[in-house]
Amino acid sequence: MTPSTTRELPPEVARLWAKPRYAPPIRSGEDYLASLRGRDLRVYLLGERVREPVDHPLIRPSINAVAATYDLALAQPELATAWSSLANRRVNRFLQIAESVEDVVLQNKMQRRLGQLTGTCFQRCVGMDAFNALYSVTYECDAAHGTSYHARLREFIRYCQEENLVIGGAMTDPKGDRSKAPSEQEDPDLYVRVVERAPDGVVIRGAKMHQTGCINSHWIVVMPTLRLRPEERDYAIVAAIPVEHPGLTFIYGRQSCDTRALEAGTIDQGNAFYAGQEAMIIIDDVFVPAEFIFLNGETEWAAPLVERFTAFHRRSYVCKTGLGDVLIGAAAQIADYNGVANASHIREKLVEMAHLNETIYGAGLASSYESRPTAAGNYQNDDLLANVCKHNVTRFPFELARLAQDIAGALVATMPSEGDLTNPETGPVLRKYLKGRAGVPVEHRVRLFRLIENMTLGRNAVGYLTESMHGAGSPQAQRIQIQRALNLEEKKALARRLAGIEPPTPASEEASRGCLPSA
Ligand code: SF4
Ligand code: FE
Repeated sequence: MTPSTTRELPPEVARLWAKPRYAPPIRSGEDYLASLRGRDLRVYLLGERVREPVDHPLIRPSINAVAATYDLALAQPELATAWSSLANRRVNRFLQIAESVEDVVLQNKMQRRLGQLTGTCFQRCVGMDAFNALYSVTYECDAAHGTSYHARLREFIRYCQEENLVIGGAMTDPKGDRSKAPSEQEDPDLYVRVVERAPDGVVIRGAKMHQTGCINSHWIVVMPTLRLRPEERDYAIVAAIPVEHPGLTFIYGRQSCDTRALEAGTIDQGNAFYAGQEAMIIIDDVFVPAEFIFLNGETEWAAPLVERFTAFHRRSYVCKTGLGDVLIGAAAQIADYNGVANASHIREKLVEMAHLNETIYGAGLASSYESRPTAAGNYQNDDLLANVCKHNVTRFPFELARLAQDIAGALVATMPSEGDLTNPETGPVLRKYLKGRAGVPVEHRVRLFRLIENMTLGRNAVGYLTESMHGAGSPQAQRIQIQRALNLEEKKALARRLAGIEPPTPASEEASRGCLPSA
């Protein structure tokens, strides 16, 4: 398949737009790893160009985490694959357009399971949530404007399903001066924008920040990051770009303690096999052929897109309850190794951790269970409950982390290195003084401390804590959405009615029937 442009593109670029086929399509984690090799991406990390990200010790754990999504689909297809009417077969759930309430709920169940298996961000939900939000937005935009984005999108999704690709949804712009709109910035490139429009496509420029899993993706889909004004047409752009495009540069985000992955041994990493990934993407005047454009200038659809995407993505953060399960397990296990498993205050703290963790999950699941069909036929989850879920995520993992450190003790932060454990002079002394309960190997105890460190201070604290705070929108963004959905007038009418301030009227009776959060 070739793009419908008459433009002279260098052959290596034209090839990318021809929707490369992976033969055979990606099925296992191993196939996925193979699909990432030899792509010659422009990736920079620690000041140097990375020749092969798959083999880079600092990047590889993030690739392993995505690979786990493929392996889960093979091991538990009922959980991690789903029926697609587009492909007319089951596809990876991360690429499915939800066709029922149950489909939306199962996304959450899969996310929790993957969080339990990896203890980190497995990066694939952004694309899932972007496709599902775009599905209804393109449909409604076409109905309003006579555009043809929906058919293009369906075709692109079907292709991604057939090849079983990883899609990075790229929303967050650099934003510059936050008090100014995109069109008011001193530098207009601080929001991704169209710099040239032609019948066969557009040229876009700008950058996207904090992009989860972008280097591990096959395509990225750029989207506007906020509500736009009518005069901000150039910023109303949604387009898919192959990650291999030479106009893209990726600059890797540092993670706390990341260079431990470059040291000998695995103990000090805490979770040596899995990690998340965030990078900055620079988009340097990339021409996108028309068939990969899913919004182009229709500014009024930016806000619905952002709202629907964030509604999906904010309840996707139940992923963190899977990490919470790991952390609760680590806290309980280290308490056992320390000989205090039966202390009442330890049991009390573990109950508190579980309560907080399940509170996150409850709100996320409730949001998914309250999904409703859109005009396009897919299912959209409840916005208010999704925002409550994510708002809980901005707080509770921090408390879980505090409790895990409380239970474990100070060795979480003062443990000598693996090198000292194996050193012939210091090793025997450490093994004598780092003993816990009888019968527990010292190394097991050390590994548990390192895992708790990893999740609460180290590499995976990026995903478990800071990403919980800012991913899918910072806390204030959720408070704004919660305030919008609050409907105080309706609640005040309920109070006035019961307090006998106002006799029941048809209007207050109607309000008393319609006050459920999702109504
Ligand atoms: Fe998925 Fe969670 Fe990572 Fe977002 S933070 S991509 S929801 S695993
Ligand atoms: Fe995220």
